[in-house]
Amino acid sequence: MNVAYFDLKTQYASLRSDVLYSLDRVCRDAAFILGEEVARFEQEFAAYCGAKHCVAVNSGTSALHLALLGAGVQPGDQVVTTANTFIATAEAISYTGARPVFVDIDPQTANIDPALIEKAITSRTKAILPVHLYGRPVDLDPIMEIAERHGLTVIEDACQAHGAVYKGRRVGSVGRAAAFSFYPGKNLGAYGEGGALTTNDDSLAQFARALRDHGQSKRYFHDFVGYNYRMDGLQGAVLRIKLKHLNEWNAKRRELAAIYRELLSGAGVEMAQDDPQAECVYHLFVVYAENRDFVRQELEKRGVQTAIHYPQPVHLQEPYRALGYANGSLPFTERASDRCVSLPLYPELPEEQARYVAEALIEVMEGAFVGAGK
Ligand SMILES: *Cc1c(COP(=O)(O)O)cnc(C)c1O
Repeated sequence: MNVAYFDLKTQYASLRSDVLYSLDRVCRDAAFILGEEVARFEQEFAAYCGAKHCVAVNSGTSALHLALLGAGVQPGDQVVTTANTFIATAEAISYTGARPVFVDIDPQTANIDPALIEKAITSRTKAILPVHLYGRPVDLDPIMEIAERHGLTVIEDACQAHGAVYKGRRVGSVGRAAAFSFYPGKNLGAYGEGGALTTNDDSLAQFARALRDHGQSKRYFHDFVGYNYRMDGLQGAVLRIKLKHLNEWNAKRRELAAIYRELLSGAGVEMAQDDPQAECVYHLFVVYAENRDFVRQELEKRGVQTAIHYPQPVHLQEPYRALGYANGSLPFTERASDRCVSLPLYPELPEEQARYVAEALIEVMEGAFVGAGK
């Protein structure tokens, strides 16, 4: 059996007529930048997240940047975050002139460990930027409590967690602001680049709206230096169609994840814990294996494609070397990065393929075929 790691083509086949109809309408209206479709998507996505405002932008990275600027993060400030993430989380902090301060993860969740945050706070700390990694909600309550006690802002990196729920609330509605990415492979993906900021804060939303469009509040009158972070009209149209399916797709991801969990936990495969108070939307299904590269090769021989998210944690990446984090400084983050393997998971993945992947992984990890392929 051949199991693809990921596939967007099957989904397109099921949406094709709706998508083409909407794209044609945008083209006939020549509403290529922002426009009606984007404005409607903003309303629909804000409502979906349970947030008051949504500001659509051109990427998740831009959304993070605007959220940090909206929180007043400035050059010389510090922002506490995780190194077990895609580099964009740290880059957005760097864009503001602030410095990321990395805290280790809780190995049970792979997310930032709330118990380690307080020790990382200094007089220059302005914000905390937790990431709902792989679609698993961060334990936000203790983080909100620490932030309140120290007068800090919490920005959620929800770029992998569209629709995830934390204690009855959708992620993106808990912190002061949140960033979502609509990169095509995300749970809610555009047909190109896209992102959004959500917030319940009226003035932050207004500021972000101006910042994404060259700092203008009125056409050609600019209040400050802004950016060109606008969303395309075509992306708004695609996202409106796809948002209607998000719950059903996330449910499918969770069903497939349940199959993996059931088969793999019996075999003692290491994976993150599910929090009964939260709903993980399984952007990725990640397991941890001692001999990761060997495991991946053996799976490949059995027709199973896998991926790694991420092979090098952010604190050890070249641009952040100057911050002085040594090898071993974030032991759980580094351990996760050395051992993680992402298994195939997308809503259209046939259940029998998920079963096959789990069985192949168990076979490989039990060492039944060690040396067989040499
Ligand atoms: C995808 C992603 C981003 C960046 O989103 P882009 O739309 O690619 O700019 C930021 N943070 C995390 C955790 C992501 O997965």
